[in-house]
Amino acid sequence: MKIAEIFKQKRPVSFEIFPPKGELSTESFHQTLSALSTLGPDYISVTCSAGGSGGRERTAELAGIIRTQYGIESCAHLTCVNSDAQMLREDVQRLHEHGVENVLALRGDVIPGAQARVFRYASQLMENLRGEGFCLGGACYPEGHIECADPAEDLRHLYEKQQAGAAFLVTQLFFDNACFYRFIEKARAAGITIPVTPGIMPILSKAQIERMIFTCGASLPADIIRILYRYENDPESLKQAGIEYAVRQILDLQRGGADGIHIYTMNRPQIAMQIMEGLR
Ligand code: FAD
Repeated sequence: MKIAEIFKQKRPVSFEIFPPKGELSTESFHQTLSALSTLGPDYISVTCSAGGSGGRERTAELAGIIRTQYGIESCAHLTCVNSDAQMLREDVQRLHEHGVENVLALRGDVIPGAQARVFRYASQLMENLRGEGFCLGGACYPEGHIECADPAEDLRHLYEKQQAGAAFLVTQLFFDNACFYRFIEKARAAGITIPVTPGIMPILSKAQIERMIFTCGASLPADIIRILYRYENDPESLKQAGIEYAVRQILDLQRGGADGIHIYTMNRPQIAMQIMEGLR
């Protein structure tokens, strides 16, 4: 089923996973999916390695397995910036072979020193995928994309994604819901009418947060800083506090009318389970 159709019926709850290293048949991967499937997500998206670290070809296969073996709709991420035309053709062929209907079309992070190949921006990839029959999604950034100094310009580029065929958007992680609400207001005023799903990543460790704020520029509200300070030497309590924060954040977003919820599960079904329990 196309994700655009799901949005017509409900505000979906979706999960994101990444392809595991090693064999696809590994027990841990199927354990992850078995556990996630009991939580009844509306779809599961599978990330795509933009660089040369391998595993890129697995995204389509996993997205196919999620549909056929677990009976859950899937969405395959597809990045373009480090790929040449032949690589992209092979990616698209694989997506079709595995019966993937939904594609989150992304630029991907530029590998330092590498030349941009066929497409420089996600919207160009989307234009190119038009006619392939996929339901296309795109990424968006409530606090602005880290490379774009002007939020208004970033919004213009986001509008280009809608024009290029994006039927839904998923946000970068954020911790301050006020940022999301301000962003939605501006996006709607800028003519972006497609559903925008907030992406939520629970904090599990201080190191994870440090990595995140440097790679995506998410701001830290005082409550998060307090959690990090209070549980600096108590990783288990920090994780629990992080999950509780994510639950509060999601409940507020649902009350605030968000179009859905996308949970970055980090392949840790236990975390998704605790969040879903918290929401109930
Ligand atoms: P774009 O939309 O192309 O934007 C990138 C930058 O270019 C922005 O600053 C934008 O303002 C600017 N820009 C866009 N169009 C133009 C234009 N016409 N002229 C000038 N500037 C322009 N990365 C992965 O490698 N694999 C994944 O699976 C993955 N999944 C993700 C899922 C989500 C929900 C999100 C939010 C991000 C994901 N990423 C993933 C990270 C993403 O690839 C990076 O954030 C990347 O830096 C930008 O990707 P984009 O598709 O948003 O790029």
